[in-house]
Amino acid sequence: MTRSSPAESEFTFELQVCQWAEREWPPVGSLDSGTTTIVARQLGIKRRRWDTIVIEADRDALRQRANFGADALDSDLLDVVRHAPADWEWYRDALPSPGYPWRYVREAIHRASDRGIVETRRGANGRIELRRKWRYPDWIERIVAIENKPDLDASAARNLAPQLERDVALALADEVWVATTATGSTVEPALLEDIPVEAGILTVDAERSAAEVAWNPRTLAVEDPGTRITERPSGAAHDASAARFEYADPEWKTDKRLEIAERAYERGWRAYADTMRPDCRHFELATADGDVLPWCGSKGCHPTAAECSGSCSAWEPEPPTWRQRGWPIEGGPGKAIKRLLDRQRRRERPMLEE
Ligand code: SF4
Repeated sequence: MTRSSPAESEFTFELQVCQWAEREWPPVGSLDSGTTTIVARQLGIKRRRWDTIVIEADRDALRQRANFGADALDSDLLDVVRHAPADWEWYRDALPSPGYPWRYVREAIHRASDRGIVETRRGANGRIELRRKWRYPDWIERIVAIENKPDLDASAARNLAPQLERDVALALADEVWVATTATGSTVEPALLEDIPVEAGILTVDAERSAAEVAWNPRTLAVEDPGTRITERPSGAAHDASAARFEYADPEWKTDKRLEIAERAYERGWRAYADTMRPDCRHFELATADGDVLPWCGSKGCHPTAAECSGSCSAWEPEPPTWRQRGWPIEGGPGKAIKRLLDRQRRRERPMLEE
């Protein structure tokens, strides 16, 4: 099925950017043959969530990452698998002192053991000992953050600029980009807006599923201490307050980058189906100029995740006849769509294909 593909919403635009990035990244030149990418959406840290994330990953190391399963390792599990020794050792000797009670570490060790990613046993005096099954690989080469703003007018740029300044100051991602709709003008309007020069600008032609660089980003110093801008003057005439900062040390940044990459590994960008209603009889996946986008046959549009949800008044269940044959084991078309998206996501993760 083919539909026209105007970016009807930020959500649709975001899915188009993710698909373009999965096919075409990087926007200039090409990746080294030993490097591959993982694309995800809506990930970040506590106070900052990026629309699209591209992880440039070492191909071989990514294959080794598959040993740890399809699910993300959270910070506690990462501490366990990264420090688990090659030979049996008491956990308190093997793992770094956590700075909080050891009982939380023991809980993480049990979770890691239940997931089959470390081995544990009771040693002398009933002490818990562990050893690794695989070395946790160093699989992340670069992290690229993209902010999607299909309509980057002056007011959107004013709202976006402080966020981008924070991203540049913290330097958690190697590059920060803004993706906006291509206008075809000699000078793209985005270049005239007040965007930090360190951020790159991508102009996206949704009709052609293509993107071009309007401005190249600066590579940020991810291994140096970063600066968190915690408060900034409002810019109003009578505001004489000073900006407030705190430092983010490189170890904190390394840990956060790893956690973001782990979540990207688990979720990818196709997880939108988990919050939408593919079990609705009107839900389709439509091909639009090379991109695959959710389509609502009832409303005749690409629905956003917010409108295609439990509260949609037009929702109708799949008719029982759609659920014959494999039902209830395989489910109806809604389940099949989720399985299809999940298979596609796993195809992007070497060694997890099925
Ligand atoms: S009718 Fe509502 S729930 Fe069904 S596909 Fe359309 S937006 Fe989604």
